[in-house]
Amino acid sequence: IKTIGVLTSGGDAPGMNAAIRAVTRTALYHGMKVMGIYRGYNGLINGDIKEMNVRSVSEIIHRGGTMLYTARCLEFKTLEGQKKAADRCRELGIDALVVIGGDGSFRGCKDMAAQGIPCIGLPGTIDNDIACSDYTIGYDTAMNTAVEMIDKLRDTTQSHDRCSVVEVMGRNAGYLALNTGIAVGALATLIPEVPFDIDRDIVQRMNDTRRTGKQHFIIIVAEGVGRAHDFAEIIEKKTGIESRATVLGHVQRGGSPTLRDRVSASQMGYHAVQLLLDGKFNRVVGTRGNDIVDFDITEALNMHKSIHTALYEMSKVISI
Ligand code: ADP
Repeated sequence: IKTIGVLTSGGDAPGMNAAIRAVTRTALYHGMKVMGIYRGYNGLINGDIKEMNVRSVSEIIHRGGTMLYTARCLEFKTLEGQKKAADRCRELGIDALVVIGGDGSFRGCKDMAAQGIPCIGLPGTIDNDIACSDYTIGYDTAMNTAVEMIDKLRDTTQSHDRCSVVEVMGRNAGYLALNTGIAVGALATLIPEVPFDIDRDIVQRMNDTRRTGKQHFIIIVAEGVGRAHDFAEIIEKKTGIESRATVLGHVQRGGSPTLRDRVSASQMGYHAVQLLLDGKFNRVVGTRGNDIVDFDITEALNMHKSIHTALYEMSKVISI
């Protein structure tokens, strides 16, 4: 491998820049050439590509977003698009790609591999919904941002004796919601992985805690279970407590990455280049506890990850 391309794809996540930086500098250290591909797979198809040097990735480790921009690329989902992308790699002498993104982006990696371009995937998403990895780049920052926002919300919720129903991101996964719920002391957290009953899990809990003196309530709903506005309306109707919905939305994607995201992203970016140096292709990098691990892409895409049920049970016991 003499030249590698690096791109970010799908939703952005804080820490992606630290990964780009680690990939670029590790590859340059080993004498490789590095091409920065802009706006995900679009950049490959359109030739939106620039050579990187050690200074190209200066001043980015502390910034959210991605210096390479990101996009969703429909054309790339077609065989014709994939062929164009692979031809572009051959034209520019790109021997391998490092793709930072989610499962969709890794499916793209598989397609590039089928076109003869070796790929390494790095898990970058605030949702933590990559099965082969305990942890994904951006997850820690997003949770900390959500906690900071909800702490501010709590002040006003408390002053008005209200109920705040807060919708947090996570796509079809509840990791972000569950941990945020525990950290802000939410009375209830609704996540897609655990069936719930509004009367039993929210209304009754609110009435019970009201009897013990609680007068304001934070309820977290993962975006995967429904809309905060709908839940707030039902809760107000059933409890008589004024209930307001707050949708945190895309602020959760932004901000300076936390130490954990910067360090994990750096380790994973470094590992990606090591794999290429060792001739290990078409793999997804992840973490298992404190270790950096890697899996074959197909195997990684077929894996499943479950929610930490003990953590969920704990949250119910201590949030009353
Ligand atoms: P994420 O990578 O965060 O899961 P998406 O699912 O939006 O985000 O995927 C990002 C991009 O990856 C898509 O816009 C597309 O270019 C590519 N992609 C997604 N799914 C596939 C697929 N099945 N085959 C090829 N490319 C895909």
